[in-house]
Amino acid sequence: MIAATSISAQVKTFRIALGSIMHESNSFNPAKTELADFEWVEPTLDRWGAGSTEVAGFVEEGRRQGWTMIPTVYSHAMPRGAVSRSAFEELAKRLVEGFEKAGQCDAILIALHGAMYAEDYPQGDEELIRRLRAKFPKPFPIVLTHDFHGNTSPAIVEMTNVLVSYKQNPHLDTKDRGVQAANILGRMLRGEVHPVQTIIKPDMVYNIVFQNTYGDPMKPLTQETFRMERENPKILAASVMGGYQYNDSPHMGPSVIVVTDGDRNLAEREAKRLSDMMWAQRDRLKLTLPQAAGAVTAAMGAAKFPVALFDIGDNVGGGSAGDSTFLLDELVKQKATGWVVVMYDPGAFAAAQKAGLDGAFDELVGGKSDKAHGAPVRVRGKVRSFHAGKYIETAVRHGGGKYWSMGHTAVIEAEGSTRDLSNYLVVTSERSSPNSIHQIVSLGIYPERQKILVAKGTIAPRAAYEPVAAEIVMVDTPGATSVNPGRYEFKEARQGMWGIK
Ligand SMILES: [Zn+2]
Repeated sequence: MIAATSISAQVKTFRIALGSIMHESNSFNPAKTELADFEWVEPTLDRWGAGSTEVAGFVEEGRRQGWTMIPTVYSHAMPRGAVSRSAFEELAKRLVEGFEKAGQCDAILIALHGAMYAEDYPQGDEELIRRLRAKFPKPFPIVLTHDFHGNTSPAIVEMTNVLVSYKQNPHLDTKDRGVQAANILGRMLRGEVHPVQTIIKPDMVYNIVFQNTYGDPMKPLTQETFRMERENPKILAASVMGGYQYNDSPHMGPSVIVVTDGDRNLAEREAKRLSDMMWAQRDRLKLTLPQAAGAVTAAMGAAKFPVALFDIGDNVGGGSAGDSTFLLDELVKQKATGWVVVMYDPGAFAAAQKAGLDGAFDELVGGKSDKAHGAPVRVRGKVRSFHAGKYIETAVRHGGGKYWSMGHTAVIEAEGSTRDLSNYLVVTSERSSPNSIHQIVSLGIYPERQKILVAKGTIAPRAAYEPVAAEIVMVDTPGATSVNPGRYEFKEARQGMWGIK
């Protein structure tokens, strides 16, 4: 009898409810994010298990562990301004109801971005967890994952059992972190580990320009977290998060979170050590980037092509407009050849459509969303192709997404093109972050034959552009995601943080 009982205990099938709401909100972008901006992923395990997201990691590890998994609510929207009051309330309601409808479960496994800024809740993710906790009080296990850019608060760490963030930026380890979080949850449910966690927030902004975890100065910090997890079995997870500086929230900035097996002193000591390592890097985090004009001149005279110019003031994935013209203006003015610029401009697409294939194009392009991203630039040329704007990325790229859409798209061959070398202006009808090179490859543009590729992003496009670009140059362009925090007025963020002024 005893043997039978212990066998049945061993094969107990855990029921785990899964969910995710992802939004990175740029509180300096006046365009609010509304409910209609959110996409809802069909609640099937096959769909949630596709791609390389952390949710796909939950599903993969859950299957390996033999869990019964209940997919509840999975929603995301392109980064933009604050989530509106009504959108946030509806998201929270659907999330809580989704978990309630999942029935009797053993745990919640949830992925939230960590930098959601809602109109009434600057720490939006914290409020989502607070509402879940109200329905699922402790000791019910809630295991959470965050994006590397989360502005994590001490309260969310206190309310959850385990918090694991992506380690890498570009985010190529999203699925690995989902697997890791699910694996810790499994061990916790079987009573093998008893997680305790702590957070320390170094009193600084770790500027987004320096948040490439595959290079200095961030790499040693990231590598240290891998080493700690590998070499000390008591350390279940160590996360160094860069934070998201476009968010005027109380806990804006980097975070260190360490989860140990029942050893609070160890968690605190190691978190403090990592935090001190970040703080000690201040001298290496000073901004010395070229402006648009100088960057274009230098790119035109480069020894090797193509040169990728990253338009970091218009970081679409960071919540900006997607129609900044500072670099396009310089390319046209300086008569550069062989460039590619992707511009969100539904009006310009409509004009191209009206002109038809091979028709003449003469339009003021970009700079239409707001006043922060430059004036519209006149571009003349010929319409060369039309596209539905959907493309697939099969490799692991930033964020792990597979299916992409930029909406109806036209390719304009702009004036100054030669028979051998074209200037391509791509006008899209949806904002789309250049995380995949297939954004332009799918249009018939061969990036390796071009001289200057403009990508609207800071770190996210790296994985896509490194394989094709001879050089990547980050350009200090103005815009909603300008990298100089001194250009913004912070009211809710902690006063006196290093790196703001
Ligand atoms: Zn991110």
